[in-house]
Amino acid sequence: MGLAASGMEDVDVLIAGGGPAGLSVAWAVARFAPGARVLVVHRDREIGLPVRTSGGSWAVRLRELGVPERLWHPLRTLVFAGPRGESRTEFGADHPVVLDVTGTYRYLAEMARGTGARVVTGSAVTGVRREGGGYVATIADGAGERELRARFVVDATGVARTVLPMLTRERRFARLGVGAEYEFVDESPERSAAVLFVGRRFAPAGYGWVFPAPHGRVRVGVGVIKPDVEAAPRALLDEFLASDQAARFGLRLGAMTGKHFGVIPAADAPGACVFDRVLAVGDSACQALPLVGEGIRYCIESGREAGRALAGAMREPEREREHLESYGAWWSGRYRARFEHAQRANRAMAGFTDRQWDVAAGFLASLSGDDLAAALRMELGATGWLRAAVRRPISVIRFLTGCKTSP
Ligand SMILES: Cc1cc2nc3c(=O)[nH]c(=O)nc-3n(C[C@H](O)[C@H](O)[C@H](O)COP(=O)(O)OP(=O)(O)OC[C@H]3O[C@@H](n4cnc5c(N)ncnc54)[C@H](O)[C@@H]3O)c2cc1C
Repeated sequence: MGLAASGMEDVDVLIAGGGPAGLSVAWAVARFAPGARVLVVHRDREIGLPVRTSGGSWAVRLRELGVPERLWHPLRTLVFAGPRGESRTEFGADHPVVLDVTGTYRYLAEMARGTGARVVTGSAVTGVRREGGGYVATIADGAGERELRARFVVDATGVARTVLPMLTRERRFARLGVGAEYEFVDESPERSAAVLFVGRRFAPAGYGWVFPAPHGRVRVGVGVIKPDVEAAPRALLDEFLASDQAARFGLRLGAMTGKHFGVIPAADAPGACVFDRVLAVGDSACQALPLVGEGIRYCIESGREAGRALAGAMREPEREREHLESYGAWWSGRYRARFEHAQRANRAMAGFTDRQWDVAAGFLASLSGDDLAAALRMELGATGWLRAAVRRPISVIRFLTGCKTSP
């Protein structure tokens, strides 16, 4: 279903961007305000392609969100490879997974369409201006440009943040995580162990990963922080694959099946995600956890919360402000502290020497699977890993908790 062929169309909610954030907003608005006119405008020709993310997540958290198990590959072990040594941690019921990214985003799109939202691909929001009590947006596709009126606008364009600078004082992010990843047919004997590798040689100011993935694939990637380092992740990844490291981790790579490139914000969380009748959701609101760059499940959860708030504002126009602000209050109450700590940890780690990475690796090796899971998710209420951290050198505490203690 495309845009209206002629005349200026009116929608209740215009969502720019059909990634996990935008699609989840669409589902929730249509679900909680039946009959609402909800339109997702997505720049790429297809939902979920090209892939720009590696899809690591956590089974327990995805189950809470109702994401079907057929969409992920379970991992039971994490190998944390420091510059000089490595550790293996076994997980129990709380274990990481790797998502079928395209399948998951398509599932979210089907959910949104199933509640009555429209999802239009191959079209981009290129302009938005205020008019009357609402907004007029310019939408461009292969056939040209047209305008439509919207009562509410959601910026879910990811790191592009297309809409916010047009309507608010928010600007694009100055600090970014930039990643390159290749996908291969996985011929490795072990398909349940992920590897995170760190150190100046292959992952300066960032980390690399080996993620066994659904459909017999494995994803190998490197991410770095810009402008903290000059190095290009693609060159580092090529160097990693040409080295003896793949053999070190028992990897047997078959044919290459894809190359993925992506960018994620690595900036301090913006102060707000609600601006008049404009909401920012997902990466555009910096809602990917900066410790490891995990965003997908946060985008789904946050998108649903934003959609619920918009639906409330539509059902009860006299309480519109209260409903919209409830989304911002929910995000701050639930995640702001976690994200601020994670961002401080990210900045500290970006400057790590190999020696500091070895200390950190030693700490991670001392944790149980459950504690490591909580630490990588930066769950501050889970005390096991925090108790373990306070017994370690102060530098470890500082980077893992993001606390402002002196080194
Ligand atoms: C290299 C890398 C690895 C990552 N690994 C993980 C991981 O393992 N696990 C995890 O959970 N997260 C990971 N992330 C983070 C995760 O990918 C993001 O947090 C998540 O994709 C953000 O979702 P989103 O919907 O906010 O934005 P996006 O997924 O970026 O979707 C926004 C969409 O909007 C479209 N768009 C942009 N501008 C316009 C416009 N003007 N009009 C219409 N459409 C527009 C874009 O084409 C894009 O598809 C990774 C990120 C990167 C870069």
